[in-house]
Amino acid sequence: MTATDIGSSNEPNGQAQQINGTNKTLSQLQIIDENQHFTKELPKYMKEEWELADCGFNYNLVAVFGSQSTGKSTLLNRLFGTNFDVMSETARRQTTKGIWMSRGRDMSVLIMDVEGTDGRERGEDQDFERKSALFSMATSNVIIVNLWEHQVGLYQGANMGLLKTVFEVNLQLFQAARGKEKTLLLFVIRDHVGSTPLANLSNTLTADLERIWDSVSKPEGLEHCTIKDYFDFMFTALPHKILLPKEFEQDVVKLRERFVNPNNKDFVFKPNYSKRVPADGFHVYAEGIWDQIMSNKDLDLPTQQELLAQYRCDEIATIAFENFLGKIKGYRQPIESGKIIDDLGPEMEEIRNTTIKQFDKDASRYHAEVYKRKRQEVLQKANSQLHVFFLGQLKNLTKKAINSFNSRVQEKLKGEYDFAEVVSSSREEAEEFFVTGANAILLSETDWTFDEEFTQLKESISDIAAKSRTEETKKMVKALEKLFQSQVNEFVSLYFKTPTNDMWEKIIKKFQQVLNNVEDQLLKRLKSFNATEDENIKAVSSLRKRSWLQLRKKIDDELADNMFLLKLRERFEEKFRYDDDGLPKVWKPEDDIDAHFRKARDEALHLIPLFASIQVPDHVELDIPSDEELDFESSLTILTETRQHDLSVRFKRESDAFYLEAKRSVVATTAR
Ligand code: GDP
Ligand code: MG
Repeated sequence: MTATDIGSSNEPNGQAQQINGTNKTLSQLQIIDENQHFTKELPKYMKEEWELADCGFNYNLVAVFGSQSTGKSTLLNRLFGTNFDVMSETARRQTTKGIWMSRGRDMSVLIMDVEGTDGRERGEDQDFERKSALFSMATSNVIIVNLWEHQVGLYQGANMGLLKTVFEVNLQLFQAARGKEKTLLLFVIRDHVGSTPLANLSNTLTADLERIWDSVSKPEGLEHCTIKDYFDFMFTALPHKILLPKEFEQDVVKLRERFVNPNNKDFVFKPNYSKRVPADGFHVYAEGIWDQIMSNKDLDLPTQQELLAQYRCDEIATIAFENFLGKIKGYRQPIESGKIIDDLGPEMEEIRNTTIKQFDKDASRYHAEVYKRKRQEVLQKANSQLHVFFLGQLKNLTKKAINSFNSRVQEKLKGEYDFAEVVSSSREEAEEFFVTGANAILLSETDWTFDEEFTQLKESISDIAAKSRTEETKKMVKALEKLFQSQVNEFVSLYFKTPTNDMWEKIIKKFQQVLNNVEDQLLKRLKSFNATEDENIKAVSSLRKRSWLQLRKKIDDELADNMFLLKLRERFEEKFRYDDDGLPKVWKPEDDIDAHFRKARDEALHLIPLFASIQVPDHVELDIPSDEELDFESSLTILTETRQHDLSVRFKRESDAFYLEAKRSVVATTAR
């Protein structure tokens, strides 16, 4: 709005006046009607007609008091370019009671034309006079008191009665704010003839005001307060509008300066006149004040300020929170479906801070305590909504950390590996991934933590690591046993092929050598599993036992009945059917077949006791543990007495056939 075109205030009343060169009329609104009802239109007017709703504290409010037909409306229209009804000079009808409001042209000023503040002049009760005085005092920075020059000094006159009401009302409203907030009373003396100088008129008025103030009964504790504690005064005069129209207009233009020019020495809008009501809450405040007045409740401004702040802060918070909800809508679904949202932290912080900023922008103008409390509420409400996402993302981070730990461990275990190293490096990676992700979604001004989730993650990883360790250990032991088995099978078969007396010594020594070797490997691998001493001891003793059982099994396999009989026969045939050069023997009649036969058979039978039990050499310390599965001492016996007997019987029977065959072959040769 530009400060041009002041001259147009000279236009006749009642004509449409334009703002900003548009066709917009400065429309007025009856905020309180003749039935003392408060209008519902005020928010709309503040916003659309007067365009003041967004100006915060940058507006002022002027009200006018005075007897009827003292040219109040005329003055306001001239001063502010408003459009209030003026009593027509010809019709002289009564203007309706009530309070009218408009916006000053080219200025951020609301003007209230208060009708019916002259109840006592009209002989009516002074109920409405008092109500409108209360209302005006509670809302206005400046009150224009309009009076004829000839009314000055009439201490008993209607004006003075009105002023007494104003003072009483003021004490009620501003008790608590004494000395801090004031109201300016601007006396405008109309039809000033000039014979009495303004200074004299001012003195007379001031003296009257002091007398009225003294007559007002003061609340307890305020008995000695002065009129200056609550009011500033200004006095001015205007010439007769009809008789001296030119001079009247000139002085009005000068007077207007006091309302629009902050550099004017008499600029009326001092900061401490402000009632501290943000423009966007004015309609709430004004209506609240009027409600209190109508219900005859005690009215004090600090309480009203708090009520206003609560109401408006709630409204502002609701709007800000709705925007907030709209912005976070999209996060729920992906998080619930397990996604990790990359910039969730910064985005949440941004959305929340924007919400708070939006709230602050309007709400910070209201009662500080209330504003702070509501701000905290908005912050907490927003945080608790976002906390759901925080927890959701933590859950998804945990899941992903566990999965990647799992697959990393599996991947690395495929190659050459040190299990403990694989686990600890994979664990480190997984934990760092989680912590980085979790830190990134911590918001300022929250008490969020992820300690518990982190502890749970570490426990899960430990569980998985323990399981995997058990499996890997099993696999490793199995592999070592296999390695052992193949070597054992080889040397047992080899030594059994040509049984000798030192056969057991060789086997046991070889067994011990292979076992030592495998044990070394086992211990080395166990070290990579971070095994404890106890685990080492158990694993070694289990390996020894299983190795021994394997050896025993191999021996049993090699010495099954048929295999053993075959061994006996081989040894026998070697001695009986072949000569010392290894050539097949041809029996001659002079040969002592019986002696040969006995010798060969004895040598063969000699194998039975040789194989009957494992002979552990004295100097060898095997240290094979015994348990319910294995009794080491008895495991040394391979052929029981019964089996030995049985085998020798079966072998003798078989060898008899060879004996007969040899005898027969001699007979045959001799017969030829
Ligand atoms: P209000 O009831 O106080 O709002 O008075 P109005 O503005 O409606 O004016 C009442 C009458 O007084 C109208 O006929 C005006 O023309 C007339 N009037 C306005 N200003 C002056 C003035 O400065 N002096 C005199 N004598 N009459 C005025
Ligand atoms: Mg009027």
